[in-house]
Amino acid sequence: SLYRWSSLRRDFLNQLEIEEKNKMILEQSEKLNYIANHDPLTGLWNRNYLNEWKENFFTRGSGCQAAVFIIDIDYFKDYNDAFGHVAGDQCLKKVASALLELNPALFRFGGEEFLCLLPPEELSRADRLAEDFCRHIEAQQLPSVKLKNYLTVSVGYSTGTMTNDREFRKLLHEADLALYQAKDSGRNQAIKYTPRT
Ligand code: GH3
Ligand code: MG
Ligand code: MG
Repeated sequence: SLYRWSSLRRDFLNQLEIEEKNKMILEQSEKLNYIANHDPLTGLWNRNYLNEWKENFFTRGSGCQAAVFIIDIDYFKDYNDAFGHVAGDQCLKKVASALLELNPALFRFGGEEFLCLLPPEELSRADRLAEDFCRHIEAQQLPSVKLKNYLTVSVGYSTGTMTNDREFRKLLHEADLALYQAKDSGRNQAIKYTPRT
């Protein structure tokens, strides 16, 4: 009957509308998820996602080793002062994508600081990678405030067990100490944390 037909048609259209809405909600939530986990400027994973990421790392179990690297652009305040903030932003993007070429587990940690994590099965390349971060950025030949030089980064890193948040924070602290050492002893270099005895 006509009545039955129009009711079927209505159901069908309702169904279409629901599917359309579901699709929109899914797309929106994917977008939100992306925004929550990524740094808008560089497109790298952000600090928020680092918190999630490391939790998964911890579940790998006891004795799980990791290397934590902090990569910090040298004299970046001077760069901004000399070339402007917009150029500074462009520079950050270039540094980020160059670093990403060397290792995928890379996070924008602070303004001009990046954090990299290596899982246990890749620890043997930690020293090499730390060194490569410096050499690779220098090789980009980005302008620097120091004439005759290119933009550089300094790297501090530390290795050890990373099975919980306390151990992670310890590695981070050690990497930070090593970074200060790298800065103090001339920048454009990678230094590994060594405990004082
Ligand atoms: P050092 O070699 O000791 O690391 O010196 P530095 O100048 O790099 O370090 P400092 O911490 O004094 O300055 C960091 C600068 O990074 C200051 C700030 O303006 C700049 N910066 C941080 N985030 C951004 C950003 O998103 N965009 C731009 N353009 N600059 C940023
Ligand atoms: Mg810094
Ligand atoms: Mg810096």
